[in-house]
Amino acid sequence: MADFDLIVIGSGPSGRRAAIQAAKLDKKVLVVDKRHRVGGVSVHTGTIPSKTMRETVLNLSGWRERGFYGRAYRVKQDISAADLQERMTKTLDHEVDVLDHQFARNRVRTAVGQASFVDPTHVRIEAEGGEEQVHSARFVLIACGTRPYRPAHIPFNGTNVFDSDEILAMPKLPRSLTVIGAGVIGVEYATIFSALDVSVTLVEPRPTFLDFVDRELIEEFTHELRDRNMSLRLGSEVTGIEFDDHGRPVCRIASGRDVVSEVLMFAAGRVGETDTLNLAAAGLEADKRGRVEVDPQTLQTKVPHIYAAGDVIGFPSLASTSMEQGRLAACHAFGLQPVPPPEYFPYGIYSVPEISTVGMSEEEVKKRGIPYECGIARFRETSRGHIMGLETGMMKMIFSKKTARLLGVHIVGEGATELIHIGQAVLNLKGTIDYFMENTFNYPTLAEAYKIASLDAWNRAFATSTSR
Ligand SMILES: Cc1cc2nc3c(=O)[nH]c(=O)nc-3n(C[C@H](O)[C@H](O)[C@H](O)COP(=O)(O)OP(=O)(O)OC[C@H]3O[C@@H](n4cnc5c(N)ncnc54)[C@H](O)[C@@H]3O)c2cc1C
Repeated sequence: MADFDLIVIGSGPSGRRAAIQAAKLDKKVLVVDKRHRVGGVSVHTGTIPSKTMRETVLNLSGWRERGFYGRAYRVKQDISAADLQERMTKTLDHEVDVLDHQFARNRVRTAVGQASFVDPTHVRIEAEGGEEQVHSARFVLIACGTRPYRPAHIPFNGTNVFDSDEILAMPKLPRSLTVIGAGVIGVEYATIFSALDVSVTLVEPRPTFLDFVDRELIEEFTHELRDRNMSLRLGSEVTGIEFDDHGRPVCRIASGRDVVSEVLMFAAGRVGETDTLNLAAAGLEADKRGRVEVDPQTLQTKVPHIYAAGDVIGFPSLASTSMEQGRLAACHAFGLQPVPPPEYFPYGIYSVPEISTVGMSEEEVKKRGIPYECGIARFRETSRGHIMGLETGMMKMIFSKKTARLLGVHIVGEGATELIHIGQAVLNLKGTIDYFMENTFNYPTLAEAYKIASLDAWNRAFATSTSR
């Protein structure tokens, strides 16, 4: 008999969700993490610290009040790195405490150490002091996540050239920052630091960024960033990093228009943490980005009793979707037939301003040849927006012209990541424009934007003699 029904490698969102699900099915579960505290990348260097930093910056800078009191308004004049870290530490402690309690309550065992395969059914755990244990398991879940990609040509030094994990422990806030990589992580940090009055340059080799987001939304977003003097250098290939006479990093750009700043952050990609797992002993291999291939329906690798979930399997690499993958993997392993997840899930980009999107973008709708109409609402048209002093913020809704069904919702502005769930529900329940036209919403709320945008679409495409 195996020591455990399930060994989970990694205590991030997918690992912990799988572990709890298996424990609820009365299975004996061991979660191994090489970090001393549970929670994974999500709690210690990813989602939670970056979102806590964002919240602290918005609160201490008075960002949300500036529409009313002017751009010079500040809650705290000199915000320091210590101010940001204080709230982060408290939030992380709380998160870890909740997780520890959840594991204990569900009798999930945990071990600290580096896990690797001995063979397909045995996992070795090496503690920091060199102590080793080997356990057998009926099922194994690889939930080891990713780490920042650190290419050899970037001179990371922990002083003024950082990756996206290191930036959280920066001892002093810089006056200027270059961020290489306009993916979600790069854009989030660039805009958070810009809200702190740091002079930020965002450098991206490709001519466009955040390509999965509706282009009209990105135009609005870009306009807002440029309006507050953030420099966006798209189509700028980085040829190398050097240091000037003051020791500041100089980002050499192929066009010759170099960028000098006090601090540089490289945020162009992440790689799977699979190199120390000894995958070969389990009959598995990773691709060149360290990712493991799975059957997307069952989360099984090509060795059927070994599953993988979370960022290590690649797209969409979100904490939200990782949790669901972990649950599905555990259900499949122990013979439960879970209801497959709905077709559409939301993306949240916690930049300043935040972006959230669900369903098809206008570009996708066009590509599929679906006749459609869009409706736009601006937050400044809502009473809640007036009360909050919002000058910016926009919602775009896309409806099928044939069936009036909602096809997509795209939001940039305050509360976007919360507001999106109304659109998500209607979309997955296959609702039409009528839902928004006929239902009473709380007033005054930003959700009123749904009514305004759908009326806008109605007036353009659906209104006949009876207009609403
Ligand atoms: C800066 C940043 C911001 C983000 N913001 C968001 C957001 O706002 N919303 C969102 O949904 N997602 C966000 N994400 C993504 C989110 O953090 C990931 O999708 C999520 O953490 C992936 O979870 P996971 O289950 O793959 O495990 P991870 O959270 O990646 O954790 C994996 C764990 O496995 C451990 N491990 C690795 N190898 C071994 C081994 N051999 N032995 C033992 N332990 C091992 C690691 O130490 C780690 O603790 C963000 C990511 C980053 C980096």
